[in-house]
Amino acid sequence: MYLSSSSVPCPGLFYSTSARDGRLFRIRIPGGIVTTRQFRIVADLAEKFGAGYVNITNRANLQIREVHTQITSEVLHLLQDIGLASPNPGVDHLRNIMGSPTAGIDSEELIDTRSLIRKLDNYISSHVELAPLSPKFSIAVDGGGALKVCDRPNDIILTAVELSTQIYFHLKLNLGESSTNTGILLQPQECVDVVSAIAKVYLQYSALEKENLTPYRKSPKVRLFEVLHTLSIERFLQEVESHLSYPLRRLSHLPTILPPHPHLNRYLHLGVHPQRQQELFYIGVVLPLGKLETWQMQGLADIAQGYGIGKLRLTPWQNLLLTDIPKQYIHEVQSKIENLKLHWSATNLYSALVACAGSTGCASSATDTKNHALMLAEYLDQRVTLNQPVNIHFTGCPKSCAQYNNSDITLLGISEDNYQIYVGDSDDESKFGRVLYQAVPFAELPPLIEKILQLYIARRQTRHESLGEFANRHGIAQLQQIVEGDGEVGGVGSVRSV
Ligand code: SF4
Repeated sequence: MYLSSSSVPCPGLFYSTSARDGRLFRIRIPGGIVTTRQFRIVADLAEKFGAGYVNITNRANLQIREVHTQITSEVLHLLQDIGLASPNPGVDHLRNIMGSPTAGIDSEELIDTRSLIRKLDNYISSHVELAPLSPKFSIAVDGGGALKVCDRPNDIILTAVELSTQIYFHLKLNLGESSTNTGILLQPQECVDVVSAIAKVYLQYSALEKENLTPYRKSPKVRLFEVLHTLSIERFLQEVESHLSYPLRRLSHLPTILPPHPHLNRYLHLGVHPQRQQELFYIGVVLPLGKLETWQMQGLADIAQGYGIGKLRLTPWQNLLLTDIPKQYIHEVQSKIENLKLHWSATNLYSALVACAGSTGCASSATDTKNHALMLAEYLDQRVTLNQPVNIHFTGCPKSCAQYNNSDITLLGISEDNYQIYVGDSDDESKFGRVLYQAVPFAELPPLIEKILQLYIARRQTRHESLGEFANRHGIAQLQQIVEGDGEVGGVGSVRSV
């Protein structure tokens, strides 16, 4: 019953995609919130049709990989019945609505976004005419809490702001390389109407001949930002307004929206945190490279059922939250998480380790990123103790599917088993930071990264300085000199430097 289509580049449930390791199915989880029943059913499917594991994606979806047999129509109907597949297969490929995983439990949030996310998802799922839109059509809803998603790449970003004690959503639109603050504020009850109007205008112009949009043409389907560039934002918004029965509320001076801390936001959810509900806590669980084996899924579902309220929350940082845990059970839950061979600490080496599919799953990859990342973490785990997360990102090509922003250390696969090493922020157009070494064979990488980490720990200015900040304080030649200084670490001397 599934459609396999090479013209649909993003995998949905009804539109599987071929990967090197078999077919790949994505199950949309609006806002990342899943019940234990849904979670167990997906675990059963991964066991039966896949290779006994799932991936949590960076849009908080679930992915079953390595599928070599056809998923039957009964299974797809079951997923529709339990709310994990769109009733209209034609729109199931459209991207998941992203929301903060702490919606409704974050004491700092301005508004609980869960019901708005459900309404937006219902709108998309029930409008089959949206099927021609690009599968990359994406929406994020940020409730203005401590854990933010408003900086994540999405076509439409709605961020809660407070103005004269009223809560509004500010509308931001993606322009491709950047996004624009439209200056438009929406009342919560207006958001679905406005998103619907945006989708209508987008649909109308995406039906135009692709040739008319060539200056920004990148993907097989017209993207919303291409329409914005072609029409101009003002004209686009005028057309959106023509579909509404009220004018859009424009403000020249918006309430301040603080951007999330680029380094810390992605780890804020790990560990134990009080909820807005008294005496209840949530625990952010580290999932190494977003992978969960089915026995671990069943174990996590048991915990959520036994100690929480029977729900789990997936995060766009490819981890998971166990929520609504009474204070007296925290230690018990922590030891149960450990029994599942998982951890909750943000300073665990796996907590900030990111890798794209790599050569086992993606034909574009120069290196086996996932296995290399796990081998590196296993090596470092025995040798390095961190007191704050270090984000190490393996990517098999410059597309950087797994992480859109730069990291403390980026390892870019350039040829079989060779990596280019980037650190900190870029001083030019590079999205990965500054090149520290041009080509390092993987065999030499673990001791080299160990040495970089040890030097960073020993020489950082404060315990809170990140590795990226440490690197930014030094020139590349100076960093190389520090790293190669005593030559004690095997392999470093043979690294080819820039
Ligand atoms: S970053 Fe490149 S190699 Fe990695 S999954 Fe994406 S396209 Fe493939």
